[in-house]
Parts: sequence; C-alpha cells; structure tokens
Amino acid sequence: MRFESYWHDTASRFHGAQIGPPEGRFDVAVIGGGFTGLAAARQIAKSGARVVVLEANHVGWGASGRNGGHLNNGLAHSFLAAKAELGTERAVALYRAFDDSIDTIEAIVGEEGIDCDFRRSGKLKLASKPKHFEAIARNFEAVHREVDPATVLLTAGDLREEIGSPFYGAMLSKKSAMMHMGRYVVGLAEAAVRHGATIYERAPVTQHLKSEAKHRLTTPRGDVVADHVLVATGAYTSGGPFGYFQRRLIAVGSFLIATRPLTDAEITATMPGNRTCVTSMHIGNYFRLSPDKRLIFGGRARFAATSDQRSDAKSGAILRASLTEIFPQLAKVEIDYCWGGLVDMTKDRYPRAGYNDGVWYAMGYSGHGAQLSTQLGIIMADAILGKKDRNPLKGLEWPAVPGHFGKPWFLPLVGLYYKALDRLQ
Ligand SMILES: Cc1cc2nc3c(=O)[nH]c(=O)nc-3n(C[C@H](O)[C@H](O)[C@H](O)COP(=O)(O)OP(=O)(O)OC[C@H]3O[C@@H](n4cnc5c(N)ncnc54)[C@H](O)[C@@H]3O)c2cc1C
Repeated sequence: MRFESYWHDTASRFHGAQIGPPEGRFDVAVIGGGFTGLAAARQIAKSGARVVVLEANHVGWGASGRNGGHLNNGLAHSFLAAKAELGTERAVALYRAFDDSIDTIEAIVGEEGIDCDFRRSGKLKLASKPKHFEAIARNFEAVHREVDPATVLLTAGDLREEIGSPFYGAMLSKKSAMMHMGRYVVGLAEAAVRHGATIYERAPVTQHLKSEAKHRLTTPRGDVVADHVLVATGAYTSGGPFGYFQRRLIAVGSFLIATRPLTDAEITATMPGNRTCVTSMHIGNYFRLSPDKRLIFGGRARFAATSDQRSDAKSGAILRASLTEIFPQLAKVEIDYCWGGLVDMTKDRYPRAGYNDGVWYAMGYSGHGAQLSTQLGIIMADAILGKKDRNPLKGLEWPAVPGHFGKPWFLPLVGLYYKALDRLQ
C-alpha cells in the first residue's frame, strides 16, 4: 500500500515554477498554491496585472491535491439549516455560488484544455437511517422549490439501480460533478503561468511587513514586494504572520483509502450509478470511483489534528472497516492507497472571504471547498482588481474561536460529541 495521495501519484508534476529565489515587485502576491491561490493568480494574470504565487511546498501539495475528488453542489449544511442560520437571501446566494463554482470549473477545464476527467456525475446524499431520510426529504422540498428544481428524491427502492448497499433513500443533485484533482490543480497552475503569473515553489512566507501601500513578503530563499496580498493558505495556515487566521480556523484531519481498480462485475455490484456519494452520519463517509475504477473512500474516521503516515494508517484501518460495512462485497479487495489531509473548518462551518488588516483572504471551506475555492479565488481576484464585488460571504462576522491559538486541543471532545449525536439521532 502506498501512503500518498492517489491524485499526487497519478498526475504529472508541475514544471512551470521559477527556478531562482523569490524576488521582484508585483501588483499582487498570492500566498498558497492550491485551487484558491491558483484560480486567483490565473484571473489576475489574465487582466494583465503582475501576480506572483508563493507556495511553501509544491503546487497542489495541500488539500487541493489530497481531497475526495467530489465537486458537490450544496453547502456543508443542509439548505434548511443555512436558511435558519444565515437568512434566506444569503443562504440562496451561497447555494448558487456552489452551483456557479462547478460551472466555472467546467468552463476553465474547457478553455485551458485541462485533461482531468471532469464529469457531471450527480451526487447522492444517502440516508444511513430511516430518520435521516425524513430530514433529507424535508431539505429536498426546500432545495427543489427554492434553488435547484433539477434535484430528485430517491426512495430505497430507486437506489437499487444506483448503489449496492441498503441505504434508506437519497437526494440526487444532478449538477454535482467529479474530476481528477491532481491533474486539475497542475493544469490550473500551468494556465496561470501561460497567462503571465510567476509561481515559486518551496517558498514558505515567514514574515509579512506592510509599509505605506506596499507589502514585503519574506521567504527563506528571498523576498517579494507587492501592492496587494491574498492569503490562500487554507488548513495549512501556520507561522508568524497568520495569527489572525489561525485563531479562526480549526485544522481537522480527513482521510482516504483507494482500492485496486475494480472489475466491471464489482462495479455493477457496488457503484453502478457511478456518482459521488456522501452518507448522512455526522462522522460519515464519502466515496466515488476514480477514472481508473478504484473506489476512493473517505471519512473523518478519527478527530485527529494531524495527517502523517502514522495518523493516516490508523485512520485507514478504520476506513477499511467502514468500507466493508457498507460494501461487504468488497471485504477482501486490496487497498492500494492511504492518505490524509487537513480540512480548514470554521466554528460554524461556513467559509470566509474578505479583507482584514490590509490583506485579502478566502478560506474556511470546512471540507466543501474543492469547487468553491476556484470560484472564491476568482471573486477575490476581481475584488483586488477593483471589479464588481460578488463575494457571497461579504460582511459575515468571523470571531476568533475562544481559547484557540492554532492547536485544536478540543478536537477529541468534538469527536465524542458527534459520536454521541450519531448514536442518538
Ligand atoms: C482529505 C480531504 C478530503 C476532502 N474532500 C473534499 C471533497 O471531496 N470535496 C470538496 O468539495 N472538498 C473536499 N475537501 C476540501 C478541499 O480540498 C479544500 O477546501 C480545497 O482544496 C482548499 O483549497 P485551498 O487552495 O484553499 O487550500 P490548499 O489546497 O490547502 O492550499 C493551501 C496551500 O497553502 C500553502 N501554504 C500554507 N502556508 C503557507 C505559507 N506560509 N507560505 C506559502 N504557502 C503556504 C500550503 O502548502 C498549501 O499548498 C477535502 C479536504 C481534505 C483535506
């Protein structure tokens, strides 16, 4: 078994980074080379402005190269919960932003010729318990009426054509998609460079100095100066200049395994619908088939604040058991990959994007950012360029998490809370 991301292992490397040390003056400096930062850089470069990306590791090293590969529409919350918490207007705007994100990715993939197996697969939100189906049906009514008439409610009977596991029904969101995340992130970086962006890898920003209208960003290999800064560091935000964000983001491990390629008979017995699937448990699972027909199966598994080989292996064993529980047909299938990454949770699980203390930012996707990050990167790029403000999160308050300074000591307690909810609800 390989302890590395399937997306990293099966995508070609990005070869467009600058070789020398970071240097020079730019209109905009973007910190972080994931979907948010690269989509912003591409947009800024297309306008003719000078933009630099400073990435601590390599392009796509963070969550963008480690996720489950789902481009699902809908938020981390049910639409009904979002309406109750944010009000109808913002909930609708945010829901639509997720739809727009998938359209935007489809357009970029087409315009830039990115070979990443983008496909409108549709998503199943699967009811793990009868009571969950009642909640899914209530949410479906509001979604169908107010934001997405293309959604369909499927009964347990309807699901037999979709999935070889006894769930109690599902909501099908036809707009949702899937793609190869590693190939998309490398393609996005190559497109940004083609449009004129400068990208430095192995360039962690360790210091940020602001004087008059300029920002100086320091890395161990050199400095750049820019008029504007966009922080796009997600769950991997750490170190000196980022205290504001670290007090507001909770980095939580999320983990995945990928089987060997399944045979056609195994697919017919497990995932004949070939959609992205998410279960309704609080500590649930998400899964899909890869372009080469592996089952990519993920979940929070443990409430860990780290993702390294030891932590990923522990979680991988839990995921293996969950996979067998859902698909006993695959009890003996070999697992080829096991990996993990950090999710940038906010306390209320709504993302945040805006401007604070001289810097722009977009982050806090709370595990639902593979699509929205491209869209918010572009929206923040437009805001920096002085274009119309389309930020669906504008003005949403973002207080610090009390008692939190970067290390989420409270995660085991949160894990116990959600385990209890899963038993009771
Ligand atoms: C295991 C896992 C599964 C997921 N599954 C899904 C899914 O199926 N669907 C979905 O919608 N979302 C999913 N997500 C979430 C989604 O992947 C993220 O929301 C999205 O990729 C965020 O992109 P980003 O560019 O904001 O952050 P990232 O991709 O994390 O990029 C941030 C980058 O910033 C760099 N960085 C950090 N600090 C510095 C610094 N000081 N200087 C320079 N660079 C720095 C990091 O190296 C990193 O590359 C998942 C996440 C994980 C971890």
